[in-house]
Amino acid sequence: MIPGTFAYHRPTTIGSAVALLIELGEDARPLAGGHSLIPLMKTRLASPEHLIDLAGIDGLSGIARSDDDIVIGAMTTQHSLIGSSLLSELAPIIRETSLMIADPQIRYKGTIGGNCANGDPGNDMPALMQCLNARYALTGNEGSREVLARDFYLGAYETALAAGEILTAVRIPVPAAGHGYAYEKLKRKVGDYATAAAAVMITMAGDTCMSVSIGLTNVAETPLWAEEAGRLLVGTKLDEGSVASAVAAAEAITDPASDMRGPADYRTKMAGVMLRRALERARSRATA
Ligand code: FAD
Repeated sequence: MIPGTFAYHRPTTIGSAVALLIELGEDARPLAGGHSLIPLMKTRLASPEHLIDLAGIDGLSGIARSDDDIVIGAMTTQHSLIGSSLLSELAPIIRETSLMIADPQIRYKGTIGGNCANGDPGNDMPALMQCLNARYALTGNEGSREVLARDFYLGAYETALAAGEILTAVRIPVPAAGHGYAYEKLKRKVGDYATAAAAVMITMAGDTCMSVSIGLTNVAETPLWAEEAGRLLVGTKLDEGSVASAVAAAEAITDPASDMRGPADYRTKMAGVMLRRALERARSRATA
């Protein structure tokens, strides 16, 4: 449980961090909170020879509203997400989801950028970011660009990040006033990754569903945005038949591994159960 040897770098600007990543190539990895990367290094599943610590770079932390977006700096910790009054007011599902990640010690160090950039299907933030239709701001050698969270995840630990690119911020369209929300996560014990989890954002007009967005965690090699399941609910009264169709559509896109969290078909069914619960709770919170 001791990592291999590595050199530690602490750049103070994004430009110098990117330059180091380009210069050192595949032997270098950005370091954020370290709570995914360091455990991998301790078990020798990752052996980077250079760690580029992002903690010394100004301007990578913070939560602010910018026009129609909420902008969260990549180095903002999960603890800060939980304590943010802006997020509690505008997008409380981020607080709800953050509270289900690991435990307080990990949340003091773990960052939104690390959670989103990691590419681990077990991370909770990616499916939430797909549900919220977030965009990731990436900076690299060629400048800056934005990629939708819904387009970012290509496979387990495989993302759209190009060599040398750093995720600098997450931009989330401000959710509609009166929306309902819920993140439901099945886990074996406190601090565990999800057996299956579902994020739901919903708007209602009276008892009619006007919009819904659904993200699923840890039931495929990537987070899943359940577009068809959401489409089946828009315009309905979220009656049993419509919900059953949506749950079936969501289950159909899952492809979980059989592992210590259960066999694949069980995890698929649990994704459906989490979605059903999240829909119920989101609906109860929506104010038409
Ligand atoms: P790091 O570990 O520093 O980095 C993770 C990866 O992302 C590395 O490959 C790194 O190079 C890359 N990276 C980091 N930041 C950037 C960036 N800005 N740009 C580009 N690449 C970057 N997470 C959950 O979501 N749910 C859980 O239930 C959960 N349970 C956990 C339980 C335990 C016991 C532990 C140790 C961790 C758990 N985690 C869980 C993971 C935790 O939330 C991590 O903190 C998070 O996944 C990664 O964030 P980090 O800031 O620690 O990133």
